[in-house]
Order: sequence, then C-alpha cells, then structure tokens
Amino acid sequence: MRDDLGILFSVVLPCYREAGNLREVVDQICETLEAIPVKYELVVIDDGSPDMTWEAITQLAQDIPALRAAKLSRNFGKELALSAGLEMALGDAVIVMDADGQHPPSLLPTMIEKWREGGVDIIEAMKVDRGRESLFSKIGAGSFYFLWNRLSGFEMRGASDYKLLSRKAVDAYLSLDERNVFFRGMTAWIGFSRAHVPFEVPERRGGSSGWSVFKRVRLAVDGISGFSSLPLHLVTLSGVIFLIFSFIFGAYTLALQIAGRSVSGFATVILLLLLIGSFLMISLGIIGVYLARIYEEIKHRPRYLIAQKIGDASRPEAEDV
Ligand code: UDP
Ligand code: MG
Repeated sequence: MRDDLGILFSVVLPCYREAGNLREVVDQICETLEAIPVKYELVVIDDGSPDMTWEAITQLAQDIPALRAAKLSRNFGKELALSAGLEMALGDAVIVMDADGQHPPSLLPTMIEKWREGGVDIIEAMKVDRGRESLFSKIGAGSFYFLWNRLSGFEMRGASDYKLLSRKAVDAYLSLDERNVFFRGMTAWIGFSRAHVPFEVPERRGGSSGWSVFKRVRLAVDGISGFSSLPLHLVTLSGVIFLIFSFIFGAYTLALQIAGRSVSGFATVILLLLLIGSFLMISLGIIGVYLARIYEEIKHRPRYLIAQKIGDASRPEAEDV
C-alpha cells in the first residue's frame, strides 16, 4: 500500500445523497490506487444528505481503515463540502472527485503519473464531452463559461472539479478564506503550473443530480460576482450612454418646442419611463448582489459546521515507517 517515497495521496469525495453509489465508487478507487500502488487515504464528506449516505460511509469506514469522514451539520453545497475535505486531507497530493461515478477512477494512474513526473502543481481532468445533459444545462453552462471567461480572464471551458492538487496548491487554496467559495474558479485564480488530462463524462451511476436549476444559477451568480466587478462598471457605463442619449433627445425636443412643434404622444413618455424604470431596478439588483456578498463575508461565520467525524487525523505512515 505504500510507494518508495512514502508519499501520501488523499482522495476527497463530497457526497450528497450518494448512499447507493458510494460503495462501488470507493471500491473502484481503492482497487485502482492499490494496483499502482500508492499509499492513500480517503476523505469522505457527507454534505448533510437526507438519505442513508452517512450510514453507508460508517459501514465503509469499518472495512477501510484509510477512510476518514465528516458529516456536515446540514447541506452546505458541494463547494463548501470540498473545502471541508481539503482542510481534512493530510496528503502530499490531494485528488478531488465526485462520488457519483462521473469522475472515472481509471484516470487516477494517469494523473498520479503526471504529478510524479514533477513540475506541475495542479492536474486537471478536462471534459472532452460533457456527457448526457439536458439542452438547458448545456446552454446554461456554455453561456456561463463564455461570460466567466470574458469577465474573469481565466479560461475554464471543459474544466471539471476532478483535479489533483499538490500540497502547495492545497495550502494556497485554503489560504483564500472567503465564505463564498467557487472551487473551479479559485483553483484557476491561485495560478501555479498545471497540466491537463482529457476524459469523457460517463453517466451518473444512480440517483439524481443534487444540483437544482436554482443552485446552478446561484453558483453562476456567485462565480461571476466573486471574480469580477465589471457588472458594476457596466451600470456606470450604461448610465453614461443614457446621459448622451438624453442630451441628444433633450436638444431635439427643445428645438421642436422652440419651433412650435412639440413632440406628440404619450407613448414616448410611457416607453421612456418603463425603460428607465427597468434599467434602474436591474442596476440596483446588480449592486445588491455585491452588497450581499460583502454582507456574507463581513459576518465572518464559519464556512460550514461538522456534526460528526470518523477517523483520527494522524498521517497513517506515522506508525509504519
Ligand atoms: N454534491 C454535494 N453537495 C450538494 C450537491 C452535490 O456534495 O449540495 C456532490 C455530489 O454528491 C457529487 C458531486 O457533488 O459527488 C457532484 O454532484 P452532482 O453529480 O449532483 O452534479 P453534476 O455531476 O450533475 O454536476
Ligand atoms: Mg454528477
């Protein structure tokens, strides 16, 4: 179970309603890692699942001594479950993957091999094909990535949350202590040298995705507002455009008035009122998004709360060196 260098790999698995998938996915991961072979630990985070996920984890922990786990006190969302996992992980390299089988464990040897070659701190599995998704989700993801790339300046098309991070990268990630975390964006933000491994997204093993449309939209808004203040400047910019327009239109109206031919029609007034009204509301909304972010951060609440834990946090090599 150990390699020559005594390097420890941590595999972090955030789980939400994965009771039915976990055993098979974990077995596959263990099999793959033992075949390489490497020394590893599993860090499983139950993101407040309402089903039997925690029971499944408890059972797994009895069979796998290298498994440590935590149950969050409620559903905090995948991003925070990941943060909890990264904080718990003790490995020299940490691999983050989904617990639903959509991140194939067969990719682990390639990722580990690439990391061992040295020189890179982050190895990302890139989706060459997004798998079977609804049209809505494809269009949604497509337009989000387009906007995000433009606004934040980081390329993220095809990026997934299946990544290997070196200890250096994990520590850098954990040093960003905002409450509103966005794993994909923040791992891009921290920089470091990186390599890519392509993969095709297989079908979910069972159960259903824990991401509702609402959660996805919220992630998109958080993702954009967390990485760019451009929307705020756009409000100013559109204000300036309105101002120029109002000068031209004002001068035109005044000229007509002086010539004794005032602009006719109520329709123009109503249209202008509606236009300006909606514009103001949207602008307030945009400011509100940033204000809410400041409020969230300033409260300085803990990112997540842990209800239960399994396993002690000492590096497994301690006793068998
Ligand atoms: N997940 C989580 N908390 C949530 C939603 C999802 O920890 O609130 C986990 C889930 O168990 C899985 C991973 O995040 O391991 C990816 O979730 P899912 O498969 O539902 O997302 P999709 O693959 O559809 O993007
Ligand atoms: Mg999935």
